[in-house]
Amino acid sequence: MLDYDLHCHSNVSDGTLTPAELVMRAAGREVRVLALTDHDDVAGLPEAARIAAQHGIEFVNGVEISVTWRKHTLHIVGLHIDPQNAALTEGLRGIRSGRRHRAELMAESMARCGIGGVLEGALRYASNPDMIGRTHFARYLVEAGHCKDVRSVFNRYLVKGKPGYVPHTWADLQDAISWINGSGGVAVLAHPGRYTAGRNAMGKTTLLELLKEFVELGGQGIEVVSGSHTPPQYAEFARYAKEFDLLCSCGSDFHGPEESYRDLGRLPDFPLECRPVWTLWEGTAA
Ligand code: AMP
Ligand code: MN
Ligand code: MN
Ligand code: MN
Repeated sequence: MLDYDLHCHSNVSDGTLTPAELVMRAAGREVRVLALTDHDDVAGLPEAARIAAQHGIEFVNGVEISVTWRKHTLHIVGLHIDPQNAALTEGLRGIRSGRRHRAELMAESMARCGIGGVLEGALRYASNPDMIGRTHFARYLVEAGHCKDVRSVFNRYLVKGKPGYVPHTWADLQDAISWINGSGGVAVLAHPGRYTAGRNAMGKTTLLELLKEFVELGGQGIEVVSGSHTPPQYAEFARYAKEFDLLCSCGSDFHGPEESYRDLGRLPDFPLECRPVWTLWEGTAA
């Protein structure tokens, strides 16, 4: 069992717990090293770091940056970033500024198919209105009785081809990686299994092109053990890690106790050949 959890969300983005509550939950679940990786925002890090210190948890400053690469939305996790770094914080501010407009378009589109008041409803779920996102819409639509759970709202309304989906251009891959690296962090390709499965999946050739470009641009890690992956995907992405000489990361992608995501911590061990990303900061690289 891994006692590192390097990917999770607080209510600064689309998680349901405050940063302090999240860290306390991690402490209760035997997480020894924790990174908070909110989408496109670093505002939760100081509180999380403070509470982690009180609970003897080693805390890693993190972020999960939304990126548009070709026609795909990707997420790039930055670990050990400097949350004060100006290029990083300006870059994240730019990404957040597009979210409100997208939310308005989403609400208009839902209204056209007869579901009104969605923006106001979603905003009630966004503790940080700057970071309004699809998960907040989903929570409101469950409350309003349109679907039984968040997952079904996504399938019915919020993914490509559905009425509440609005295409959006996020950061460039190159920019995201350079903001992370420029602030002293390490860039990790988040949950690659989500890009190769389901509707709009990228094929294997495209994934190989992505990995090549990611490495050329300075990316150094890939999530292998993720709450978004199945066990066969751990092995699959461990093989890609080896092929592209990438360090391996792990994280639950926890968003809240009420939702059917994996809980914090207690992730299964890496496949044998993986080199953990923390060898970089623990100075144990071979
Ligand atoms: P956004 O950045 O606003 O487009 O929202 C993306 C977030 O929606 C992800 O970080 C997940 O938390 C959530 N999400 C995406 N797809 C799904 C899905 N199929 N089921 C549940 N949650 C999802
Ligand atoms: Mn999320
Ligand atoms: Mn993600
Ligand atoms: Mn995430």
